[in-house]
Amino acid sequence: MRFEIVTIFPEFFAGIFEHGIVRRALAEGLVEVGIHDLRDFTHDRHRTVDDRPFGGGEGMVLKPEPLAEALQSLGIQPKSTSKISQPEGGGGFNPRIQPIGSTRALAPEKEHTTVILLSAQGRPFTQAIARELAALDRVVLICGRYEGVDERINQLYCDMELSIGDYVLSGGELAAAVVVDATMRLIPGVLGNEASGEFESFGVADAEIATDIEGVPRSQHGSGGLLDYPHYTRPAEFGGLRAPEVLLNGDHLQIRRWRHEQQLRKTLANRPDLLKDAALSEEDRRLLDAIREEGE
Ligand code: SAM
Repeated sequence: MRFEIVTIFPEFFAGIFEHGIVRRALAEGLVEVGIHDLRDFTHDRHRTVDDRPFGGGEGMVLKPEPLAEALQSLGIQPKSTSKISQPEGGGGFNPRIQPIGSTRALAPEKEHTTVILLSAQGRPFTQAIARELAALDRVVLICGRYEGVDERINQLYCDMELSIGDYVLSGGELAAAVVVDATMRLIPGVLGNEASGEFESFGVADAEIATDIEGVPRSQHGSGGLLDYPHYTRPAEFGGLRAPEVLLNGDHLQIRRWRHEQQLRKTLANRPDLLKDAALSEEDRRLLDAIREEGE
């Protein structure tokens, strides 16, 4: 899989992918990242990438021509203007399927590419979207700056706008790095333990995971859209607090049950909104009612 990042600050990414899992995935060739300097696609002496907004107002806007040229250099063609509709909220991906360009032979004949504009106005980036991106061959990320990007780039070239949260960043670079990091770790082979993505916050439902590993019952529960459970390591006693006894006794089924209850407790306390779409059993619902009653 390959990420292409279009930015006016290519140096921003020096070092950002040189740590831990991401560095290893790049070194092993499981993932590639191409950084493209938007100023390389300008044709004036000052390498101008921005201009004043039509209609007046604060700040500057990234001009469409250099962005269009950068995208076309990556083999991304504009949509036909008759087919342009504003991206809808919700819904799944509809990645472009196109003949591979000169950048890389990813598949024998075709590759699945999606073009994303990082934007505070975009759909919220979630683990579910990261999972969809991880299944593609190529993800192109456009980093805005100033007041943003001329909207016609969004209309002509982008498959979706993504926001990493309800706040305004000064540029799309941090957001692009977040998308690359969260997506990359879901690509098969990137995490040491293949299954570990499933046991993290926002992972898949338990029913979709094998119940034991080589005959040994698992001590983890698929998160099924819940938050992760709390983790502990040695020493067993720290700061006057003892790690939960259940984790020290080696009973995998008990540990698994305890961890799942903690997932429910954490999610109820910190992200009750997630419970609406979580994969909950009847027993989970009873447990949640009991936890709510405790708090009353
Ligand atoms: N005028 C824009 C607005 O109010 O929505 C904010 C522009 S912001 C200062 C500059 C760039 O940062 C945006 O074009 C976008 O690429 C990036 N950006 C800002 N907040 C973001 C967010 N929450 N998620 C993703 N990208 C963001």
